[in-house]
Amino acid sequence: MTEPTPTLPNDAQIQKALSNVIDPELRKDIVELGMVRSAVVHANGVVDVTVSLTTAGCPIRGHFEKAVREHVGALEGVTGVNTAFDVLSDEEKSGLQKKLGRSSLPEGALAQVGRVICIASGKGGVGKSTLTANLAAALSAEGRRVGVLDADVWGYSQPRMFGLGAGRPKVNAERKILPHESHGVKVMSIGFFVDEDSAVVWRGPMLHKALTQFLEDVAWGELDDLLVDLPPGTGDVSMTLSQLLPDSQFLLVTTPQQVAQKVARRSADMAAKFNIEIAGVVENMASFVTPEGERFPIFGEGGGRLLADELDVPLLGQVPLTMPLRENSDAGIPLVYANPDDPASQAIRQIARGLIAIAPIAPLPMVDEQPPEPPAPAGMSLPMA
Ligand code: ADP
Repeated sequence: MTEPTPTLPNDAQIQKALSNVIDPELRKDIVELGMVRSAVVHANGVVDVTVSLTTAGCPIRGHFEKAVREHVGALEGVTGVNTAFDVLSDEEKSGLQKKLGRSSLPEGALAQVGRVICIASGKGGVGKSTLTANLAAALSAEGRRVGVLDADVWGYSQPRMFGLGAGRPKVNAERKILPHESHGVKVMSIGFFVDEDSAVVWRGPMLHKALTQFLEDVAWGELDDLLVDLPPGTGDVSMTLSQLLPDSQFLLVTTPQQVAQKVARRSADMAAKFNIEIAGVVENMASFVTPEGERFPIFGEGGGRLLADELDVPLLGQVPLTMPLRENSDAGIPLVYANPDDPASQAIRQIARGLIAIAPIAPLPMVDEQPPEPPAPAGMSLPMA
């Protein structure tokens, strides 16, 4: 007697099973996201599935492999599951962005900004905000026109670091939001729009809109460098900005512990996912040096070098632990201005010079025969003065 041939799942059943496989970063299923390239059922019950990823080095391959095996393998008649991967084409990727409602900025939104540098870290408390403020100060001291966008929406600290109050920014005649200014650096932060110390609860779409507005509707004017203080980790804000600013560069901040670079690595993986270049690594809280010159590597050693080597990018500097750096951040005057000779200031100034050295050469200004049309009034959602 021959065994009855088990019924094999049909296409709709396979797609249904695959719709249980969720992309943990985009939080949608791979069928809806259009990431299932093919699913072929063989007569022997083996199913070959090809999943298309946003980037070849996608760190969550293992997650997909396991989830596809689990859900497709559970279907009646399936004897085995093979999962293969390929990469979405640029066209497919932009289709995916549209599907996520995360289109890029309108062309020309940051036309007067030379370059955007996102300061990122794997976790909080490594000195990312302190470095953003002081690097802005150092770049401006070198004669660059600098802006700081505080995108650390839950832990915003740039208003405090630059000694700026919580006054609501004003709007100019063209309905653009005017950034506050400190020592010549233009600063924009969500902190200017909320009551001090109040907890900010942002829902996804609102957050996306606020960030887009910060890039699109702020009168940044002509800038050489716009530094963006990202929130720690690789959450919604960092992802949104990476998508909105595909031409930006990442500067990764890590502490010297060898384990810290593993955490910082996640931000690098995210940058890779959106094809963002990594300008380099900065190691903060490198050792503490006593006035007598004795060196204490309080947070260990080597993390910055390890991360830079692993990513094959330059280690742009090592900033020591110094009390004045912390004191000046609290006092609202970046240390680079208050004491440019402090060892931390010196290290930060050196990093700024490194960033200038790798800056693209500005194109010669074009003469416009027709003055551009004034922009149409923007739809404001932020509370303005
Ligand atoms: P993050 O933005 O990564 O959360 P912060 O910039 O807020 O971190 O820094 C955390 C704390 O560490 C702040 O009090 C800051 O003044 C202090 N700090 C950062 N870097 C240094 C340093 N190199 N030396 C001394 N204190 C530092």
